[in-house]
Order: sequence, then structure tokens, then C-alpha cells
Amino acid sequence: MVSVPGKKERRGIMMPDKKFVALTFDDGPTVGITDQVLDILQENEVVASFFVIGQQITDETGYLVKRAHDMGCSVENHSRTHRSMPKLSREEIVSEIQYTSDRIEEITGEKPEFFRPPFIDYDRKMYDLIDLGFICGYGCEDWVPSVTAQERIDRVLQVANSGFIVLLHDMKDNYNTVEAIKTIIPELKKQGYEFVTVRELFRRSGVKPQRNVTYMGANEVREDSTV
Ligand SMILES: [Zn+2]
Repeated sequence: MVSVPGKKERRGIMMPDKKFVALTFDDGPTVGITDQVLDILQENEVVASFFVIGQQITDETGYLVKRAHDMGCSVENHSRTHRSMPKLSREEIVSEIQYTSDRIEEITGEKPEFFRPPFIDYDRKMYDLIDLGFICGYGCEDWVPSVTAQERIDRVLQVANSGFIVLLHDMKDNYNTVEAIKTIIPELKKQGYEFVTVRELFRRSGVKPQRNVTYMGANEVREDSTV
């Protein structure tokens, strides 16, 4: 048998029953949390996507953005200041996005392709102004400190479906999510899921992200997302 590098993987992409999952982490980079998330991803040999807040990318945190990118993770846009955007002016919205995209590109050399609206608040104006794919995904209320690691695990595993996006947070003190992914990742792996970035999720699902919709997964649009 002759082994052709890359061939096996390509054949895998064509498999119709292939299950993909994209883990995403919002509100970083956060020293002490994002590092741990990256360690766990590395130990499990998987990738994820980080939706970063522009104003949090500083001399102290920039290395986390670089490390995520170098590990094959994608770094995407979660605004500059994390304000609810529908009430901002057109100029403010453009500047929120531009600033964050520029900071990401400075560090990684790549522009973001996706955007997650702060608080998942969005309106038609934002679709018109922001030239990025809008992502929501399935959350487990992991921004609520009282939601335990086990509850986070259970909720994510409950909604698992092929092509789904998991919405998590690498925000300050979010140790419960650090704990939760230590179980979520191996469990989804055991169930046959392949971990991909949001970009890869769409590419490999053969879906071109449309404008004017917000995605829960590559094959699922958020209800009421056509505003
Ligand atoms: Zn957020």
C-alpha cells in the first residue's frame, strides 16, 4: 500500500457522515485563562476560534493571540469595546470593527473573516456595515459564574449536532469553562467529531457564509436573525 500524504484527509472531507464541531471562545484574550484554554486544545490536538475584544489586545496579552494563531486556531472579531452595537452610530460601528480587525492582522498577519456581535445584539444596519460572517452558536450560559463546570458539559453535549458551533468564553476568572472543556473535547472526540475552526467549518461543510443572517452552525441559521 502506498501512502499519499494528504490524500487520506481529503477523502475524509468527502465523507457525508463526517461530524464537525467548532469551539469558539469570546471576550479574550485573557492572561491566565486563554493560556489554559490553549494548553487544553494543544493537549487534545484540536483547534478552536477566538472572538477577541480589540481593546483587550495589549502588550501584555498579544502573545496569546499570536499563540492561538500559531497553533492553527483562527482569531475573529468581537468588536473593540464590547458595547451593544445597535445603538451605536454608523461611524462607531465601523471603527469598532476596523480597530479590532487591524489589531488582529498586525499580530497574525491575517484578517478576521467572522464576527460575533457583543451580547448577540444586531440589526440590519450592522449587516450593511460589517463585511464579516455573523456567528452566534450554542451557548451554555458559561458567562454565569453559578453555572457549574458539569452543567456546562451537560448542556454542550446535549445540543451536539454535526456542524454546530459552541459558544464559550475565555473571559476573566472563567475557570469553570476551562474545567468543562477538559471533558467536552474528549467526549465529542469519542463521538466522532472533528474539531475545526469556524472558517474550516464552513469550507468543509461546503457552505458559503451569507450576509444578513447569523449562524448557529454551518447548516443552521439563527431564528429571527434576518432582521
Ligand atoms: Zn462577548
